[in-house]
Amino acid sequence: MTTTVSAIAATSATAPLTKTTIERRDVGPHDVAFDIKFAGICHSDIHTVKAEWGEPNYPVVAGHELAGVVTEIGSEVTKFKVGDHVGVGCFVDSCRECEQCKAGLQQYCTGEGGMIGTYNATGKDGTPTYGGYSQATVVDENYVLNIPDSIPLDKAAPLLCAGVTLFSPLTHWGAGPGKKVAIIGLGGLGHVGVKLAHAMGAEVTVLSQSLKKMEDGLRLGANEYYATSDPDTFTKLAGKFDLILNTVSANLDMGAYIGLLAIDGTLVELGAPEQPLEVPFFPLAGGRRSLSGSMIGGIPETQEMLDFCAEHDVTPEIEVISADYINEAYERVLASDVRYRFVIDTATL
Ligand code: NAP
Ligand code: ZN
Ligand code: ZN
Repeated sequence: MTTTVSAIAATSATAPLTKTTIERRDVGPHDVAFDIKFAGICHSDIHTVKAEWGEPNYPVVAGHELAGVVTEIGSEVTKFKVGDHVGVGCFVDSCRECEQCKAGLQQYCTGEGGMIGTYNATGKDGTPTYGGYSQATVVDENYVLNIPDSIPLDKAAPLLCAGVTLFSPLTHWGAGPGKKVAIIGLGGLGHVGVKLAHAMGAEVTVLSQSLKKMEDGLRLGANEYYATSDPDTFTKLAGKFDLILNTVSANLDMGAYIGLLAIDGTLVELGAPEQPLEVPFFPLAGGRRSLSGSMIGGIPETQEMLDFCAEHDVTPEIEVISADYINEAYERVLASDVRYRFVIDTATL
């Protein structure tokens, strides 16, 4: 027995997304069933749907920023009750036994198959996983997050991927008072990064393609804002930053950005460029600088991030859309025309 729910699916890399229905499993002893109220649109959804990361398993029901309300719990569930506000991010299970899983870093699970993605993966029951562009889902309680009451569900959704993807490297590399942090790209990920880094007490600079969004960037908490289309930016800011987080998926001139790092500084790749990164030797070695990468965050740090956002009043800037608007929304994300995250109101499904 399963439950049929409405959803938005992609059936090929080029066809527009359309409404459909999918099946959700019955609630097992450790499961939480919840009505998805809002689902964020992450650029990764678009990469996946458009087969930019390899051919996905169509139909793809994307969405890994889910926020909703618990409707049913399994007999063994202890962490949640009916009516709770909950969220799910990029994965719904993992091996639970490897060192990474035990350390709460499920995103780096080294067990067979690694973490199980919220969509475009195969669940432990052998059925395909379908994501947040739908009305309800069933997820094991260990992969469900508690959304603090003070964060409205529509604004909570983008925190489940964009939020933790920035929170994790910011905390890992010690962003805080006295640290100079730059964020490349003021999009879905970048704008949450500005808010988080500011709330952590770091000095924040936005490196955007142009100065079009400068007023927003400063309002969100940036101390400074520069256009990367202006070559002077790279002279003025040379050697300045302790930490640079790159949220851009286009291939950038890595040498130029690495040159903005202080000695021993780190540039962390978060965007997922199509072509391999080209890294010149001298800017890197000449400042004992590091190039790193980081992927989303584990369950404990995702909860820590949600609690931090509640405490520091950090919420994303969103544009709530109806299900019918999905294809336009995708186009606008591709055109960097989103301020700053689209969130689907799943009641419109
Ligand atoms: P987004 O909302 O589209 O933001 C990306 C930003 O990059 C844009 O707003 C734009 O900012 C800048 N940009 C776009 N095209 C550019 C170009 N050609 N040259 C320079 N800058 C450009 O996307 P997102 O949802 O934040 O995701 C960003 C990337 O992170 C995607 O590749 C996504 O797949 C990846 N991602 C990674 C993780 C992870 O775990 N590492 C998690 C989620 C997403 P400006 O207009 O300010 O320049
Ligand atoms: Zn994402
Ligand atoms: Zn594991």
